[in-house]
Amino acid sequence: MRISDNLQKIQSSIPSHVTLVAVSKTKPVSDLMEAYNAGQRIFGENKIQEMVDKHEQMPKDIQWHMIGHVQTNKVKYMAAFVDLIHGVDSFKLLKEINKQAQKHDRVIDCLLQIKIAEEDSKFGMSANDASELLQSEEFSELKHIKLVGVMGMATFTENMNQVENEFNYLKSTFDKLKTDQTENCHLQTISMGMSGDYKLAITCGSTMVRVGSSIFGSRNYN
Ligand SMILES: *Cc1c(COP(=O)(O)O)cnc(C)c1O
Repeated sequence: MRISDNLQKIQSSIPSHVTLVAVSKTKPVSDLMEAYNAGQRIFGENKIQEMVDKHEQMPKDIQWHMIGHVQTNKVKYMAAFVDLIHGVDSFKLLKEINKQAQKHDRVIDCLLQIKIAEEDSKFGMSANDASELLQSEEFSELKHIKLVGVMGMATFTENMNQVENEFNYLKSTFDKLKTDQTENCHLQTISMGMSGDYKLAITCGSTMVRVGSSIFGSRNYN
């Protein structure tokens, strides 16, 4: 199937309140352009350098989402243009994003990554640490970032009951954190669900799905 057909099929299967992020990591600009020409404007990448290169080559009305783990020393390369950073998992990183955003006179939207999977390999904060962060004074002083939601990655497993439990946990964490709305924190987005589980994620309350291989085909990392 062609990329544009895949996109159309997915778009028509998700409700209108759910945002589709087309995860284009490892794929060539020609593939992204096929999605762009079919109307897609939100692309997700997990490596900053790759996102910067694609941003330079592609139309400027694209919204670029950083969905991968972010190293503090690389925030500066994307601060001028990134639209949403999904994987924020420490105050230190938030502070650096704030600093780089200020240099560009911007406010950068961020999601707090919450650890929902059992696996140790997945990044993210605990729900308690997230809650403490939102209530801290040092957080309230960051004027160049805005926390707009949470993001989570479920365990990589065939066990859909487990995945469902993890998605429900993210949704309930979001509902709890949402009671602490402040000037730089307006939680409205729940980023969860990928190619294999985005339909389940939507039934569990996802408002943003990150879909790669179902749009662009499987990835070859070699
Ligand atoms: C690669 C990736 C996705 C997309 O995965 P698919 O299974 O190809 O849809 C979603 N989220 C994150 C954080 C990713 O790294």
